This record gives sequence, structure tokens and C-alpha cells, in this order.
Amino acid sequence: MKYVCRHCGALNDIPDGELPSRYSCKSCSQPLSHAPKATGDSSAAVGMIGGATLGASIGGPVGAIVGGIVGGIIGYNAKGVG
Ligand SMILES: [Zn+2]
Repeated sequence: MKYVCRHCGALNDIPDGELPSRYSCKSCSQPLSHAPKATGDSSAAVGMIGGATLGASIGGPVGAIVGGIVGGIIGYNAKGVG
């Protein structure tokens, strides 16, 4: 069973059936009690959701910026020609 350290985020491998509170984080030595479980499936799901959210959040502003730049160039050129 894998537990994620709440203090530093390190992934700690705890033998099945063992209490995480009996173990300390291998990275920061803080007790692992109340640390959330982490499985491969949930990690993959979180990664996919995070990636989609990140892409969506980047897409909006960048699209607006690119649109603004292109619009400005077109407007500048139009002005020069005009
Ligand atoms: Zn830790």
C-alpha cells in the first residue's frame, strides 16, 4: 500500500495490513498517520484531470493573448497601408 506524505508529498511504501501511523516518511521523517492512500489508478486519474484542467486553463489566456497580438498586427498593418 502506498501512502503520500502530507508534509513533503513523498510516496512511502507500507506493507499491506500495516498501519501507516507506525511508519515515518522516508523523506522528512514525519509520521504517516492520516496520510491519504495513493494507488496507481487514482494517480493516473488525477494526472489526467490535472492535465486537462491545465490545458483548459492555458488555452483560454493564450488564445486571448494570441488573438490580441494577431489582431494588433492586423490593425497596425491596416493602419500603415491605409
Ligand atoms: Zn514526508
